[in-house]
Amino acid sequence: MKFSDRLDMICENLSFDLDTDQVEKLKKYKELLLAWNEKMNLTAIVDEQAIIVKHFIDSMLPASLFTEGKVIDVGTGAGFPIVPLKILKPELDVWGLDALNKRITFLEEVREELGIELNLIHGRAEEYAKKDVSRETFEFATSRAVAPLNILAEYNLPFLKVGGNFVAYKGSNYKEEISDGESALKVLGGEIEDVFQYKLPVTEEQRFAIIIKKVFKTPAKYPRKPGIPKKRPL
Ligand code: SAM
Repeated sequence: MKFSDRLDMICENLSFDLDTDQVEKLKKYKELLLAWNEKMNLTAIVDEQAIIVKHFIDSMLPASLFTEGKVIDVGTGAGFPIVPLKILKPELDVWGLDALNKRITFLEEVREELGIELNLIHGRAEEYAKKDVSRETFEFATSRAVAPLNILAEYNLPFLKVGGNFVAYKGSNYKEEISDGESALKVLGGEIEDVFQYKLPVTEEQRFAIIIKKVFKTPAKYPRKPGIPKKRPL
């Protein structure tokens, strides 16, 4: 089946429509993902339908939560959710950060081939969030499949302006992650605002995007040194 027909079929009852240019970009992205996956580890998901559902649509269904401004994807890996979000909402000013340089190199190629504006940073959240150019400068921060919420909060909240939102993509154990993350949020200036629930097409799996509002400035000592948030979560 042609990629565009498969995508059309899967997206039939979803909350967004894709034009031909967006479909073409997703097709190119899928091709690059599979080609580069032969030489480096980008994803365990290689079936076309699964890539569409579990990577592309999972990334895009919470798009309405990102209204406008600067968005940083912390631990973007092969570009999820930031690349599908940019394809769907080109008006967003998007940034992808990852500690692994080979993933950033892949994303440079994606940016070039798809012709999208995407700011890429090779580095660790613990270090980049300390820099004046990035600290408290984003309207949105997001992460998918990077770490539990108590660790993620320390990676993400320092990037946000007060009033900005951290959107954490999560699976069904989100409630436990919220209760384990409460003390970290209190220290770092985050407050749970809402949980956006959505269902993937085809597999019918439930997904949850936890929305955390930044309510006060993160104390300057956070994030702690690389590796410490993971070793000793707040
Ligand atoms: N977000 C992508 C997704 O949903 O497919 C990638 C998930 S991958 C399992 C986790 C990524 O987070 C890896 O590429 C890893 O290098 C990156 N990562 C983990 N800890 C990080 C940190 N402290 N700073 C920056 N990147 C980090």
